[in-house]
Amino acid sequence: MTSRLAKDATTVDAAILAMVTATHGPEAAAPQGPDLLAAAWAARRLASLATMRARQYVVQAREAGRRWEDIGQALCLRAPHDLSLRDVTLEYALCGVDAEGRACVTWRCPACARMVREYVREADPAAAEHGHAADCARAAGTR
Ligand SMILES: [Zn+2]
Repeated sequence: MTSRLAKDATTVDAAILAMVTATHGPEAAAPQGPDLLAAAWAARRLASLATMRARQYVVQAREAGRRWEDIGQALCLRAPHDLSLRDVTLEYALCGVDAEGRACVTWRCPACARMVREYVREADPAAAEHGHAADCARAAGTR
């Protein structure tokens, strides 16, 4: 029986080979294995794209109402002693800066349709969502 890790590695190898072939042509994917430099480039590119997609899924999960702690657990993130799992997960998902240059995660609130900004290391996580409409039901639920 093939382990989950081995199955996942086979899936990644197929994606690398497909990217090598698509970028460098079929000659770069020789029967004895792909050109090693082309494969290394493709693996790095896939890792970068996968990280970008993971961050997009994290923001979408937050937008859908998932808690940062639950998202962090799903990603198997670990919090060092000086940070909460919420902050570690927020740091993983950081996607921009606000007008003052503070790093934040932004997402559109489905309840009030406004763009919400969340910051790492907010002293009061209940007040960490900035940008909701004054009468937003979702924001009212977090206060
Ligand atoms: Zn809202």
